[in-house]
Parts: sequence; structure tokens; C-alpha cells
Amino acid sequence: MPLEPKNLPVHEVRGALIEAVRMHGRVLVQAPTGSGKSTQIPQIALDEGLAADGEIVVLQPRRLAARMLARRVASERGVPLGGEVGYQVRLESRVSAETRIRFVTEGILLRRMVSDPSLRGVGMVIFDEFHERHLHGDITLGRALQLQRASRPDLRIVVMSATLQVSGLSGYLAPCAQVVSQGRTFPVRVRYVEKPLDFEKSPVWDVAAEAAAALAAEIPDGDVLVFMPGAYEIARTCEALRHRLGARDFDVLPLHGELTTAEQDRAVDESGRRKVIVATNVAETSLTIPGVRAVVDSGLARMARFDPNRGIDTLLIEKISQASAEQRAGRAGRTAPGVCVRLWTEREHGNRASAETPEVKRMDLAEVVLTLKAAGVVDVAGFPWLDAPDPKALLRAETLLADLGALDGRSLEITSAGRRMLRFPLHPRYARMLVEAGERGCVAEAAAIAAITQGRPLLVRNVDRRIEEARERTFGEERVSDLFLALDGWRYAERTGFSVEECRRVGVHVQAARQVRSLAEQFVRIAREGGIDAAPLGEQRGEREALVRCVLAGFADHVAKRLDRGTLRCELVHGRRGMLARDSVVQDAALFVAGEVSEIGGRSGEVTTLLGLCTRVDAALLEEVFPGSVREEHTAELDPVAKRVSARRRVVFRDLVLEDREAGEATSDAAVRILLREVKEGRLAIERWDETVELWMARVNLLARLFPEFEIAPISEDDRWVILEQVVHGARTLREVRERDPWPTLRGWLSPEQLAALDRLLPERMEMANGRKARVTYAKDGTATLSARIQELYGVDRNVVIAQGRLPVRIEVLAPNQRPIQVTDDLSRFWKETYPEIKHALSRRYPRHEWR
Ligand code: ADP
Ligand code: MG
Repeated sequence: MPLEPKNLPVHEVRGALIEAVRMHGRVLVQAPTGSGKSTQIPQIALDEGLAADGEIVVLQPRRLAARMLARRVASERGVPLGGEVGYQVRLESRVSAETRIRFVTEGILLRRMVSDPSLRGVGMVIFDEFHERHLHGDITLGRALQLQRASRPDLRIVVMSATLQVSGLSGYLAPCAQVVSQGRTFPVRVRYVEKPLDFEKSPVWDVAAEAAAALAAEIPDGDVLVFMPGAYEIARTCEALRHRLGARDFDVLPLHGELTTAEQDRAVDESGRRKVIVATNVAETSLTIPGVRAVVDSGLARMARFDPNRGIDTLLIEKISQASAEQRAGRAGRTAPGVCVRLWTEREHGNRASAETPEVKRMDLAEVVLTLKAAGVVDVAGFPWLDAPDPKALLRAETLLADLGALDGRSLEITSAGRRMLRFPLHPRYARMLVEAGERGCVAEAAAIAAITQGRPLLVRNVDRRIEEARERTFGEERVSDLFLALDGWRYAERTGFSVEECRRVGVHVQAARQVRSLAEQFVRIAREGGIDAAPLGEQRGEREALVRCVLAGFADHVAKRLDRGTLRCELVHGRRGMLARDSVVQDAALFVAGEVSEIGGRSGEVTTLLGLCTRVDAALLEEVFPGSVREEHTAELDPVAKRVSARRRVVFRDLVLEDREAGEATSDAAVRILLREVKEGRLAIERWDETVELWMARVNLLARLFPEFEIAPISEDDRWVILEQVVHGARTLREVRERDPWPTLRGWLSPEQLAALDRLLPERMEMANGRKARVTYAKDGTATLSARIQELYGVDRNVVIAQGRLPVRIEVLAPNQRPIQVTDDLSRFWKETYPEIKHALSRRYPRHEWR
């Protein structure tokens, strides 16, 4: 027998809970599923005045759960739904001015924090099912904690979890009180299958139906709960079950978010008859279905995960973790001992992940990042995350938002377009499309296009000539967008009543076409909720040109340019490369935006990025939709073939070069800059800038040091580049630079008087006492060396004086073959002591020379 609400286990900790909330304002409640957390704690809070006269907002991970919990709580209190107790989910709400307990989902609360940063009127926020680690739960909790610390110390925060496995949570919430209830559960026997099952061979719904029918026959009373990943598998399971069970003893009832509310209620409500309920993981911990004694677990769930191909989250069927399986099994032990059949082997169970990855680690963050920015959190990496997301995922989100014009490209702060996008609870890509469509009066078409890009492929790919001709006859020969062709294809499918034959004739996938409408209708409803006037779907109002702008707005991160005419190779913004799909209608567009960017693995392991669902655009359009995004740059560049610097004119969209043309002669400043860089990096040299230049500069610097009275500026390392720049000035080609004469510029460094002083005081050749001339070199360290052959030195016995004696001079005595024999700074001693010793040997070696 189901328990009376007041006998539910959480009421045993009622006193502790009330005290914890009053004392600490922050409480972590842990109690197993079915204890009464979701239905009882909001009521306790209301009845005990824990939220003062404020509202109690309960954040739920799932819409279905929010609605059903509200309904249950309203009925327990005997009040109408939407009065004291209500719910608010995307596109649906039942609330009023009287509402005191409000069940909400997803971004509802986070958005409310944007429009009302201090959450006026809210006294308590309850984070339910926190163990599921939904993205919005994580982020909203972070914001609520910030708010409580900053300006709302009276705001009460309750975090509820069905398991103790949320690591780091109590530290994150500290200081916080903990209230734990053991709940009451009965043992559940878990059975595994013997051998691994292959759902490719026998579909999971058949296997599950078989197992459920067997269990139904086996257990004496109670209901059976079957877990399936999604609506489709649930429908198939129900079908298979009805075959097996007949309608005699059991009602077969589906439970998932896409059913009508009446159908959903039927799965939970007591009918007096036994039931087999086939549900998604909404029945795992969010909803308790009373009376379940047996569980069949497919072990699968649809999970949202970022899909890099489409740049949004995709639902993929994945294997659930051990923790999830544990919870699912637990559903059989609520009212009496139960049994759970797992459709996988025990051995495989051991290999499964112990717990699910939190959404923040696997989902696209663009929407929540935008909301955080709107709430004034500019540094999203610095946000107090319970589990910080991958920095790459944050960067990806910010880059996308900047691409969509929602954030300022530099400061990464939210823009006015970004704020307008927030009105639509959608992925920012689609929110941006709706903003544009609203302004251009083509919401219905944009909604259909959004649905087409999000759903399964609508057009048959790479069709033959016959279908191509049929398409041309039916839809015209317009070559603007693959999306328009798809839009026409969808309308055609609807017009023909989804005739398989007609659709095949023009290459349209009927199933995909069928799915477009419901998705598109959702977009239209969201647009209307956001205050945009939208025509009914299917009605054609806006111009196609307006629609091109919407597509561009939503896919601005996929702007691509053909690299050449001969191939399909393209370059995209942010330096990515890709290939235009061979069957795209925009074959001759130089610039387009892709609605689909997918990575295709080739046979030899290489990956190609394929650009599909393309729409032709041009630079003027880019600038119109994203003002300031297209700029003209005038630059100069070294042409490696012509070996000259020429001017270039570039048109750039963000970081994608749209046009790059030679534009005549480069300015001399630009040419100098580029040519000097070549010199600096050692790829280009002025031939006459040789050792003599270096020596000359060393002399100048020496003169400057020894004779400050001449007021010579020494040539620094920087000055060398100033001189070089002057030498190169006016040149455009590498050859001109090579052949430049540096000397006029070098000499120009000094005045004529200074130049004369240089030659006089630090001569390169000087006359010695015997009338002969000898070479003098000045090393960079400032020593002077006079070099002369022995014979030239005959008759010189006093030391040589240079720079008026302000510089010591060394004499390098050379043999007749110019080889140094001796370096001395005292010539008379050389003649006296060294010369006699070497003379003999030298004269023998060089007998033809004079030897005094
Ligand atoms: P928890 O949040 O701790 O999992 P709930 O508050 O959701 O627990 O549910 C507590 C109990 O209330 C369930 O075990 C069930 O008996 C009952 N209950 C909850 N929702 C319904 C409903 N829609 N119909 C009937 N009984 C319900
Ligand atoms: Mg609950």
C-alpha cells in the first residue's frame, strides 16, 4: 500500500530540516527516491513559513517531472493546479499571483536572475535531483550561492539528492547543514542476462518486452516498470508488449516527455488494474510510480552530448552507469521486495562507468554562458563551478557567441543583440536566427529552416540526373541555398501528404520531412512567447533575401570561402579548412555559409571536414548582418617570386580573408619595414655593408669616447638599424637593397668637422717616422693596432702616437709573407731584444729581402 504523504520518511527528519534551514539557510538533504523529498519538502517549507512570505522555487531537471510534481502537490493540498502550487517550464506554465510553490526547469530560474538579479519575491530555492548534475542545476546553484553571499543572506537554499555520491558537494556548499534520511526500501533481487545481447540482431524492445511479459507472469502482484532510452523505443516496446500480454490483465502505458499530459498522468495514476509502464529515465529518480514490484532495465539512456559536427548538443543513446542502474533497480523495492532484470551481463556491468559524467563536462555551454554574461558574469572561467568545465569548451562557447554577435569580440561582454537573444530559450544559434527573422518578418520560414538544420537530413544526397531534373522542374533552378531547396522539399512533402512516391521522385526523405513541422512549430511558439509576430508555418511571407540573412546570422561561425575554382577546398573563419559538398547547389559561389559542418573519416584515416546545407552570401551581406565585421586592410607584402614588395588590398571578415589583391606600388614606409625584416632575419644583406663598415663604426665610437669635445653621438645597436633603414629607404626590391651603397648615409652620421677629426685622429693608415705608411686597425674593444712588415719598420724606433696619445697602440710586426711575428707595445725594446734573435732565421727564409 502506498504511504499516506504524512507518513513518508522525510517527515521523520522534519524537525531537523526546519532547524537546519532556520539556523544555516543552506541545507543539503539526502534521502533515497520515494522518501518524499520532492513532494513533501516544499510543503514543509511553506507550512512552516521557511521562505517567509516569498515563493518557494523548486528546480527540476525534467519538464515532465516538474509538471507531475506540481500536480501531485496541488492535489495533496487540495488546491487547483496553478493556484498555490504551479509549474513553469519552457513553452508551458500554470502559475498565478497566488503561486507559492513553483516547480521550474532548465533556464527558467537562471533567466529570472537576469531580469531580477536579487530574485525579489523568492524566499527559498530548492535544487531537486541534484545528483543528476544537470547543467542548469549546477549553474543556477552557483549563482544562488553568490547571491546569498552578496545581497540576499535571507535567501534559503536547499539542495536535494537521492544519493550520497555527489563528491565535493558539501564542501562546495559549506557552511551548510546536512539532513539525511535513510528512507525505507525493500531488497531487490538483480538478475543479469547470461550471454551478451546484440540489439542489432534482436531489437532491444523485443528483448525487453519478452522479459517484462515473463516478469508480469512471475510476480504475484504489483506493476512492472521498463526503462527505455526514448520515445521511439518506448512505442516499439509497448507495441511488442501488447502482443505478448494481451489486454486482459495489464495496462501497457508509455511515459515520456512527448506524450500528452493525460497520457502521462495515466502512467502514474492508480487505476485499479495492474500496469506495465515503459518509461525513460524520468522514472529513475524524478518520479515515483507507486506499486512497482519489477523492473526491466535496457541499460540505455538518451544523453545530450556536444556534437562538434553540428556545434550543438545531440541526443545519443548511451549505456547508463552503475549508479543509474542501481537507482533503476531500486524502483522495484518501494513497497515490497522486488526484482530487477538487467539486459546486460554481470561481467559487462563491472565494466560500466561508476557514475554519469556531469552535463557541464559533456554539453555545449553556449546558452548558459550567454545567460551568465547577461547576469554580469564576464569572467565565466572564474565562476564558482562545482565542477569546472573544460576550458576549451568555455572558449568554444565564447567564440561561438562572439561569432553570433552576442558577445563583443574583444571584451567578451554581452551585446544588445545578445540580450535580445535571451528572450528565446534556445541554443544561441537558433535564438540569433529568430532575432534576425523577427526583424525581417520571416519567422515561420526561419523556424522551418532551423528545424531542417537540426533534424535528420531531409534531402537525398548525391542524387542522379533524373531526380535533379525533377527537382529543377518542381522547385525551380534557383542556386542560392541548399536550405531553400530543402525548405521547398519539405513544403512539397507536406503538400503531397508525405507521399512516399512523390518524395522519392524529388529526392526527399519522407521521415525527415515529417519531423520538421513539430520542431518548427516549437520555434514559432518560442518566437511568439518572446514577443515576435510570426506567420503560421508554411505560409510564405518573407523574401528569400531576408531568409539568407537569418541563415547567415545563425551560422556566422560557418562562413566559408572557396580557395580556388578547380577544387572544392574552402577556408572557414578561425583558420579551419573544409570541402564544399559535391552536391551543393552553391557550386559557383565564392563565399557561402554552411548549415552543417561534419567530419568525415576517410579510408586511410584522414579526416575531411565536409560543408553542407550551404547558402551563398557576399561581403556586403556579412557587413550588413554583422556591422563592423568586414574591414579593408591595406598592407604590403614581399612577393617571393618577383622578389619585390608590393601593396596589397585585403578584405577581411573577422579572421577570414575574403579578397587579397596586389594593389600597385607599396608605400616606401611599408617597403622599408618589410625589407628591413628580411635583413634582420638574415635572409637579405647589403653587399657593401661588410667588415669595413663595422670597423668604421668602431672607430666612430672610439672617437666619441676619447674626444668628448667633438660631441659625437656613439652609434648604438639601435642606431645601426636607423642607419640601415635610411640606407634601404626607397627600395622596393631585394636587389635594390643588396646593391645599396651605405657609405653616404654612414658618413652623414658625422659632420664634416667630425669626419675630418676621425681621419686625423684615428687614421686608417698613418705615416711613420720613416715616411712610410702603415695600416691601423681599431678593434671594437677600443685598442689600436698598427701593422707593418719588418722592412717597413726599419728606422722607426720610437713608439707610434695615435689619437694624440689618448690611445695605447700596439704594433704588429709582420714577416715578409704578412704573417704576424710579434705584437709589441714597445718598439725600441723589440729592436733591442727580440729582433736580433729572429733576424737570423728570417733572413735565411727570405734571402731576397733586405735585412738590416
Ligand atoms: P522523492 O522526491 O524523495 O523521490 P517524492 O516526493 O517524489 O519522493 O514521492 C514520495 C512518495 O509520494 C512516493 O513514494 C509515492 O508514494 C508518492 N507519490 C509521489 N508522486 C505521486 C503521484 N503522482 N501519484 C501517486 N503517488 C505519488
Ligand atoms: Mg524527487
